[in-house]
Amino acid sequence: MTKFHIVIFGCQMNYADAARIRAVLTNIGMTHVDTIDEADIVVLDTCSVRQKSEDKVTGKIREIPSDKKIWITWCMVQHNLRHAKISKQLHDKTASELMKRGNFVGNVATRDPEIVGFSNQEMKDLKEYNADTDNIVFVNHAFNPMFFNFQKTFPNLELIMRIDDIGFIPRIASRLGYEVQEWDIELTNEYNDIIPHTWNQLSDANAKTAFVPVSTGCSQFCAYCIVPYARGLEKNLPADKIIAEARHHIENGVEEITLIGQIVNKHPNFADICEAILDIPGLRWLRYTSPYPTFYSDKLLHLHETHPKMCPHIHMPLQSGSDTILKKMFRGYTAEQFRVFVDRIRALNRDISITSDIIVGFCDETEEDFQESMALTQYARFDMVYIGIYSPRPGTLAHRMMDDNIPKDVKHDRRDRLNTLLKEISYANNQKEIGRTTDVMITAIHEDGTIDGYTDNMKNITIGAPLQREEPTKWEGISVGSFTTATITEGESFRLKGKLT
Ligand code: SF4
Repeated sequence: MTKFHIVIFGCQMNYADAARIRAVLTNIGMTHVDTIDEADIVVLDTCSVRQKSEDKVTGKIREIPSDKKIWITWCMVQHNLRHAKISKQLHDKTASELMKRGNFVGNVATRDPEIVGFSNQEMKDLKEYNADTDNIVFVNHAFNPMFFNFQKTFPNLELIMRIDDIGFIPRIASRLGYEVQEWDIELTNEYNDIIPHTWNQLSDANAKTAFVPVSTGCSQFCAYCIVPYARGLEKNLPADKIIAEARHHIENGVEEITLIGQIVNKHPNFADICEAILDIPGLRWLRYTSPYPTFYSDKLLHLHETHPKMCPHIHMPLQSGSDTILKKMFRGYTAEQFRVFVDRIRALNRDISITSDIIVGFCDETEEDFQESMALTQYARFDMVYIGIYSPRPGTLAHRMMDDNIPKDVKHDRRDRLNTLLKEISYANNQKEIGRTTDVMITAIHEDGTIDGYTDNMKNITIGAPLQREEPTKWEGISVGSFTTATITEGESFRLKGKLT
C-alpha cells in the first residue's frame, strides 16, 4: 500500500487544501503517515507569498531522501505557470502554438476525462492530434520550467500540479503506476465536492479544530500581493457546501471552526453561513480570517455581540494608516473608513479583541505616513499586529511599477517603533483580562507541567505548572489539540497567564 506524507507551508488555506489532498489520496487506497521517513510519496503543499517561502520549499526538497517520490502543488506551481485553456473551440494549430509558448493547463468540460496527460511524449503527441480535445486534461508539469529546473537536481521529482487539478489525482496516480483502488468520482472530481478528513494542524490525533474555505483566490490585486497571481481570481464556494463541510467536521469531534478566505466576508452569504454553523450542536468556537472593513454587515457584527460561540476576536488587516499609501497599495478603503469600522466594533456590547497586519516601508512611505499608521494603531488599540517589512515580490504591480525606495535601516526602525507601541497597548489591554475565565485550546504541554494555548479572543496564554505527573487524574482530557478552561491571573505584553479552573 502506498504511503504518503504531506508537508504544509504557508497559511491556513494550505492546511485546508492539504486536508483535501489527503482525502483524495486516502480515497484511492493510499495511507497517510506522520513522517517523511515512513512515506513513499512526499507531497509539498507550497507557498510563494515571499521569496523566503519558496526558498524554504527548496530547502525542504533537499532534505527528502532520493528514494522518495516528490509531488509539488499549490502556490509555487501556480505562480510558475502561465495559464491558458484548451477547449473544443481551439483547433490543433492554436493548441500547438499554446504549447510552444510554454505552459498551459487544460480545463475540460467533462468530469470524467478519458486521458490525463502529463508526459513529454503525450504533449508532443498532441501536436499531431487531430481529434476533439475535450476529454484530455493536461496536468502540465511537462511544460513548467520549474519542473525541468528542479528535476535536473532532484530526479525523484515525479509530479507538479495545480491544486485545481486535485480531482484528477486518481488518474494521475494510476498513470504514474501506483495501485489505485476504485474511487468515487462524485467525491473527488471537484475541489468543492471533496469533504476533507478533519486535520488538526496541532495534533492529528485530536482534531478539535478545522479550517473551512469559503472562497479561493482574490480579485483585489493589492499592489504588493502575489496571491491573485498565485491562487487565481476570487471564487466563492456554495454556501450549502461550506455549511455541510463544517457540519461534517463538527460531527466528527471538531469544536473550533475557522472559516477562511482572502476576503472572507466578501462572500455574499457570509453572515448567514456563520449563523447556520453557529447552530450546529457540538461547536464551541467559530472564527474567520481575513475580513475586509468595507464588507461587514450589521448582521455579522450582531452575531459577534450576541452569540457566545462567535469568538470575540476580529483580525482586520490595516496595512497602512495613511490614505496616500493605502491608495498606492490599492487597498480600496481609507483610514477614515477603517476608523469608522473600529468604532462599530467598540460600540458593541461585548469586548472584541482586534488584531491586524501592517506593512512598514512600502514604496514612498514618508515618516508622516508611518506616523499615521502609529496613530491608527493607537486609536484601534490593536492587541497584536503582524508587522511586515516591505520587500517587493516579483510579478506584483509594486515590483513592476514602483520604487522600493525606503532604506532598510529606516524600515527596521519603523518596525521597532511600532512594536514598542504595540507592547504598551497589549500590556494595558491585557490588564483588563485579569479575573476572566475562558476556554483555552492547548497548543503545547511542557515537561514542567506548564501549558501553552490560546483563548477565545485569540490571545496566547500560559497556564502555570498545574500538572504533576504523579497526579494522573489532573491529566485527564488534557492533551495538545484539546480544550481546557482557565482563569486569567496576569497580563503581560502579547501573553496572558492563568490557572486551570
Ligand atoms: S486582499 Fe489584497 S493583500 Fe489580501 S489576498 Fe487579496 S490582493 Fe492580497
